[in-house]
Amino acid sequence: TITADDLKSLIALIAQAMTRERDRLCELDGAIGDADHGIAMELGFSAAAKATAELDPATADPTLVFNTAAKAFLNAVGASSGPLYATGLMRAGAAVKGKPSLTADDMVAAFAAIAKGIQDRGKAEVGEKTMVDAWTPAAAACQAAREQGMPLEECFSAALAAAEAGMLATKDMVATKGRSSRLGERALGHVDPGAASATVIVACFHGFFS
Ligand code: ADP
Ligand code: MG
Ligand code: MG
Repeated sequence: TITADDLKSLIALIAQAMTRERDRLCELDGAIGDADHGIAMELGFSAAAKATAELDPATADPTLVFNTAAKAFLNAVGASSGPLYATGLMRAGAAVKGKPSLTADDMVAAFAAIAKGIQDRGKAEVGEKTMVDAWTPAAAACQAAREQGMPLEECFSAALAAAEAGMLATKDMVATKGRSSRLGERALGHVDPGAASATVIVACFHGFFS
């Protein structure tokens, strides 16, 4: 089973990955946005990792870990990714409410809830050149693999492949949501930074459960 402590470790792993990827994500955002996406994601997940690490292990359940991460992320990030990830993480918390630890099915449900929360909050559909282009197919692939009885490693392997494909597909899209929608066709040829950071997160899930 997956414990609250495991979720804290996973969030810490994501924070480390965002520190490693910060400059690349800022460069991607520099091409079609305001060049702060790597900083936003590093700040957000560092704050989430710090706040969850400080939770009392005796009383922290998975829902509290997700909710604490959500609040910390929202407070740390002024960019549009702040409320999107805060909503996603809150939805993950709600998806596992009352569970002292998580099964593989619960973990996949929490992962899918992040994707759904981001989509609900930002109202973007697949094809609008946002992080939804990575998150939505990743969640669908993860759930499909789980329904076929695959272990988590394979569920997140399928999710990662779908996220990568979705991220690459954003290259050929014109943005209709977010800051880069102002660029029109000038956004063509560039990967969406939010789809790139989403793929980094999915890679962390895959690494953690492998
Ligand atoms: P900002 O544009 O405020 O500087 P960030 O740079 O942190 O915010 O995040 C930019 C990313 O946010 C984009 O690359 C895109 O993936 C994502 N994004 C923007 N608007 C939306 C939306 N409505 N729904 C989903 N994702 C969005
Ligand atoms: Mg930006
Ligand atoms: Mg900004």
